[in-house]
Amino acid sequence: MIQPSDGHGITISGVSKVYAGPARPAVDDVSLTIAPGEFMTFLGPSGSGKTTLLSMIAGFTTLSAGSIRIDGQDVSRVKPHRRNLGVVFQQYALFPHMSVYRNIAYPLQQRKLPKAEVAARVAEVIELVHLEAFADRLPAQLSGGQQQRVALARAVVYQPRALLMDEPLGALDKKLRDQLQGEIARMHRELGMTFIFVTHDQHEALTLSDRIAVFNEGSIEQVGTPTELYEQPRTLFVAQFLGESNTFTGLDRDGGAVVVRPERVVLHAGGDTVPAGHQRIEATVVEVVYAGNHHRVGLRFPDGVQGSAMVLAGSAAPGAVGDSVVVSWDPRHQAVVADRPLPAGHESPTEAVVRAAADA
Ligand code: ADP
Ligand code: MG
Repeated sequence: MIQPSDGHGITISGVSKVYAGPARPAVDDVSLTIAPGEFMTFLGPSGSGKTTLLSMIAGFTTLSAGSIRIDGQDVSRVKPHRRNLGVVFQQYALFPHMSVYRNIAYPLQQRKLPKAEVAARVAEVIELVHLEAFADRLPAQLSGGQQQRVALARAVVYQPRALLMDEPLGALDKKLRDQLQGEIARMHRELGMTFIFVTHDQHEALTLSDRIAVFNEGSIEQVGTPTELYEQPRTLFVAQFLGESNTFTGLDRDGGAVVVRPERVVLHAGGDTVPAGHQRIEATVVEVVYAGNHHRVGLRFPDGVQGSAMVLAGSAAPGAVGDSVVVSWDPRHQAVVADRPLPAGHESPTEAVVRAAADA
C-alpha cells in the first residue's frame, strides 16, 4: 500500500558544478536544506542552474564540490538507481510499445516485487492519477497531459524517498498545465512525499510550493515561502522575477531600492489627499489596459522610470493616457532591496528598516 510517508530530508552543502569550457560554474557553491515532506521549487530563468542541481541530486551529474545527503546519508557518489528517487522530465519518456499498465509496473518488476503486489500498487497509483479507464492504452493513444500523468504514476509507484520534477508541465498548453498543477498539489498532500519541482514560471511556483529557491546565474538569491518572497524580496532580482514591481532607486537613504507592488499603489485624481506618512510621487499615465477584473495602468515617473498600478474594477476610474496623477502607498507595503545578493545571514535593507522602526 502507498502510505502517506513522513518524507525524507535532503541537505545540499556547498555544491558546485563546473563544466569543461564555460568560465562560470553552472552551479556555484549552493547550500539548501529541504525538509521532509516539503514541496520545494527551484525557480529561475533559463540557464540559471536549476536542471544541473536537480540532476546532481538525482545522480545523473557528478559534483565538482560539496555534498548531497538524504536523511543524513551522503549520496554524492551513490549511483542514481540506488538513491531511490523518482524523476519526471518535461518530455514524457514513456516506453512507446508498452501499455499504461506495463509502463507503470516496469519499475516494480525491475525490483522483482511479487506479481500480486505489483498489481495492487499499480492499481493504486493509476487511481491516484485518475487513469483507470486508460490502463490498456499505448502512450501514443493518450494526450500530452495523460502521458505526463503516467510518468508521474511511474515515478511514485515504488515509493521513492522524494519526487524530482524538471519542468514537467512545460510542454502542455495552459489549460492542461493548470489542471495538472492541481493534480500535483493533490498528489503531494496525499503522498506526504518530499517534492522538488523545477520551473521558470513564477505563477506555477507561487501556487504550488511550500518554499521557493530563486536561482540566478548558478546561485540561490533567496529561499522562502511564496508570501515571504513576494512581500519581502531581499534583492532587486527576486523582486523583479516574482511578479510586477515599481522600483525606485532614489528613495532609500542607505542606497537600497524601494520596491512596491502595483496592487499596493493608489492613484489619486485631483482633489483627494495622500494620507499622512504615506509615500507619494507624481507620475504620468502612459497606458491603460483592461484586464476584466482590473485595469493595469502603466506609469512613467519623473526620473523616466516605468511602473504600473492595478486599479480594481468597481473602484476609482483608472484615468486616461496623458493624465498627470499622484501615486501613493503605505510604506508598510514596500520592500527595500539590495541590488545584489546579500551574504548568507546578512539582514536585508527591509529587515534593517523594520528593526530600526521597532527600536525607535
Ligand atoms: P536551467 O535548468 O536553469 O535552465 P541548466 O542547469 O540547464 O540551467 O544550465 C546552467 C548552465 O550550465 C547554463 O549556462 C548551461 O549552458 C550550462 N550547461 C548545462 N549543461 C551543460 C553541459 N552538459 N555542458 C556544458 N555546459 C552545460
Ligand atoms: Mg532546465
